[in-house]
Amino acid sequence: MSIVIIGSGQAGFEAAVSLRSHGFSGTITLVGDEPGVPYQRPPLSKAYLHSDPDRESLALRPAQYFDDHRITLTCGKPVVRIDRDAQRVELIDATAIEYDHLILATGARNRLLPVPGANLPGVHYLRTAGEAESLTSSMASCSSLVVIGAGFIGLEVAAAARKKGLDVTVVEAMDRPMARALSSVMSGYFSTAHTEHGVHMRLSTGVKTINAADGRAAGVTTNSGDVIHADAVVVGIGVVPNIELAALTGLPVDNGIVVDEYLRTPDENISAIGDCAAYPIPGKAGLVRLESVQNAVDQARCLAAQLTGTSTHYRSVPWFWSEQYESKLQMAGLTAGADTHVVRGSVDSGVFSIFCFLGTRLLGVESVNKPRDHMAARKILATEMPLTPEQAADTDFDLKLAIA
Ligand code: FAD
Repeated sequence: MSIVIIGSGQAGFEAAVSLRSHGFSGTITLVGDEPGVPYQRPPLSKAYLHSDPDRESLALRPAQYFDDHRITLTCGKPVVRIDRDAQRVELIDATAIEYDHLILATGARNRLLPVPGANLPGVHYLRTAGEAESLTSSMASCSSLVVIGAGFIGLEVAAAARKKGLDVTVVEAMDRPMARALSSVMSGYFSTAHTEHGVHMRLSTGVKTINAADGRAAGVTTNSGDVIHADAVVVGIGVVPNIELAALTGLPVDNGIVVDEYLRTPDENISAIGDCAAYPIPGKAGLVRLESVQNAVDQARCLAAQLTGTSTHYRSVPWFWSEQYESKLQMAGLTAGADTHVVRGSVDSGVFSIFCFLGTRLLGVESVNKPRDHMAARKILATEMPLTPEQAADTDFDLKLAIA
């Protein structure tokens, strides 16, 4: 049996590794359009920005690992076509590879900012190691930076830039940072943290243009006409899933490649996992597409188990983390739609959690510097253990004992 994986990011890599650890003895071909071995992205907006860039430290495994495990790694060549009738993929150099099962792990790419000046030198995005290295080298010769977008990546970049002593302004169209993912209490905590670390937070403000001086980015003009000068600009306004290849071959797409609870597309020989996959979650309307290491890894492992004979549908508690200054944020569950937010601990101390309920049902928990709450929350959500808002708020109520 031959399995071809398109995309050698976190999900594609993990699928190859898990197939071997589940005893799959057939052919595995991992095709990536980026150069080099698969690598982790989370450090790119964190330690990688304020240390000497070292590609090897990012690698998920050294090159030898792929040889040792008979995983054929084809780097730097995108797949340009899937022929479902012939069960074959075609690479840009016209190489054709046949498959019995095809895994789409094509991930996502930067959402581009559609304003004048967006293509100027000195405008950075951050998805790949190459982009991180270009940003690091730009920051080394800059004294000021504008970050467009107060999402996780934008704010992690802002924190890294402050650590390097740059003057940083964050411009965000919404009225609070990380608004799509976090409760307003948590947004407020991080807004204050950035302000206290010297970041100029410009909320409820869009960007009209990126301005130029001497042919390079020199800051932005906001929708309200304010001009903010800076030596470089970082755009962090989210990603779009890489779904075109799937769409071209007639597979359904809907803000992601549509899969069922087994991560299969309607073509039983093709699955999709990771940032590119839109899948159903029991009890939630519509499809969900998550962008996290946990999602990529757990989906890859689930699919590898299925392809080696363990029929299991995908059901995992989503979790995510972010690091900004001395605050480590960890999230468990999906908190959108919560109507009750209970604080456990003290926001002012920077050690607390927010338990997010819809009625009496716990949807998720956001924790800052409280890894024990985070781990307990993952177990509570996985086991659907009943927890009341009163218990969540009571720091004498031992969550660990309750789930033991
Ligand atoms: P990707 O990592 O995007 O990999 C997909 C790969 O497929 C890419 O290499 C792409 O180029 C390739 N590809 C696409 N089309 C083709 C084609 N036609 N042919 C061949 N190859 C193709 N998550 C967390 O949980 N915590 C964090 O703190 C965190 N921080 C992050 C910081 C940054 C800067 C970034 C960019 C992401 C961060 N994430 C974080 C998100 C996490 O890294 C992603 O969710 C994860 O990498 C998704 O893995 P993936 O394999 O699905 O997609």
